[in-house]
Amino acid sequence: MTTKLFGTNGIRGLVNIELTPEMAIKIGSAIGTFFGKNKNILLGYDARTSGPMFAKAVTAGLTATGCNVYFSGMASTPAIQFAVKNHKMDGGVIISASHNPPEYNGIKVIWSDGIETSHEQEVEIENIYFDNKIVYAPWDQLGAKKEQPGINDEYKDAIKKHVNPQAIAAKKFHVVVDAANSVGGIALPPLLRELGAKCTTINANIDGTFPGRLPEPRPESLGDLSKTVKAVGADMGVAFDGDADRSIFCDGNGTIYWGDKTFAVVIKHYLIKNPGAKIVTPVSSSTLIKDTVDAYKGELIWTKVGSVTVSQTMKAENANLGGEENGGIFYRPHQAVRDGAMTTALLLNIMAEAGKSLAELVAEQPQYFIEKGKIECPNDKKEALQRGIYEQVKNENVSTIDGVKIWFQDASAILIRPSGTEPVFRLYAEAKNHEKAVKLVEDYIARLEKILVKI
Ligand code: MG
Repeated sequence: MTTKLFGTNGIRGLVNIELTPEMAIKIGSAIGTFFGKNKNILLGYDARTSGPMFAKAVTAGLTATGCNVYFSGMASTPAIQFAVKNHKMDGGVIISASHNPPEYNGIKVIWSDGIETSHEQEVEIENIYFDNKIVYAPWDQLGAKKEQPGINDEYKDAIKKHVNPQAIAAKKFHVVVDAANSVGGIALPPLLRELGAKCTTINANIDGTFPGRLPEPRPESLGDLSKTVKAVGADMGVAFDGDADRSIFCDGNGTIYWGDKTFAVVIKHYLIKNPGAKIVTPVSSSTLIKDTVDAYKGELIWTKVGSVTVSQTMKAENANLGGEENGGIFYRPHQAVRDGAMTTALLLNIMAEAGKSLAELVAEQPQYFIEKGKIECPNDKKEALQRGIYEQVKNENVSTIDGVKIWFQDASAILIRPSGTEPVFRLYAEAKNHEKAVKLVEDYIARLEKILVKI
């Protein structure tokens, strides 16, 4: 029997309802069996209240199969990923539910290069779990649990090597950090101080109930960040998700930018220094990304939606820069995973070297208006609906990497994509003016409805 344990980004569930300590022990043993006896696994967690409980359960499962567990304590997901690579571990386990609300937790498995395991490797772990193929170690060959302190400092020092600390320090930047009451408050404030920047924090006390705001950094939940930046006269604000791999920024006027705008700033300055470089992004990203890559003569590689796919594609294509519209930037010279603190340092470096504010850097970009919509569709009709809409548009400039994406002559575009978790199709349109984006969503919802009644 085989069924699902992993979602799009690791194992996630409601604490003690969908994900219990008993399951976590068995998951730990399945992961240990997957890696094999005598392997060294780094383990850490974010600020969630259930982190220590699940860490102990997963440790019991791993050591029972003969794996040694190196416990890093509380750290951001990118700091743990960096440490796996830096300490030549065989793998890692991160106890985190990323941007989910506080009642959730999750288990993410990391390969020796610091990148999340591939979906094929996740299936291997699921098969071990569900088919009871766990291989326990004999009593005298159990794994040991050891401490691995200092990973947050190592991570911070590694980031500094990829920017120009003198240039940043000369600008005496002031940055407000909204740490979501989680691990974003551990590594970034000391990094900013060492880069000569002043740092003001909000929601920086570690509290797994996330009292400041929900851990998903969406523009509408970052009002306090925006107000604080204006109140203290800062140059920039940054807000993290619960495990600090995603970062959303605001400029000195308190204007919050969705991730594709800051990603385009990073792309432009990366391509100026590295002409012809490959840029990896999911097909859900804005046409702004395509425009920027075209304008600065890069090579754009579209992928399916999902951060693990972006990381794996960067590895396969030998690409150094990737990004997602939700605030995840992947900088492979440091590590090919989403990394909030690395992204912050890259942006400060660009602001210092270009001598421009974030608002000025974003203002240089072409402007797009985005409109979203959705239509209900039973799961068993999703494939037929996608085929139906593709038949209608297949002669346009269209991609079927993930859902159906159409690029039009007037620089507008629409992505029509079935949700992986709900019985709906989602539509993401963008255009040079708001009316056109709204009309695109309305037109395509009408088209989908017509197809749906015939299925
Ligand atoms: Mg995250």
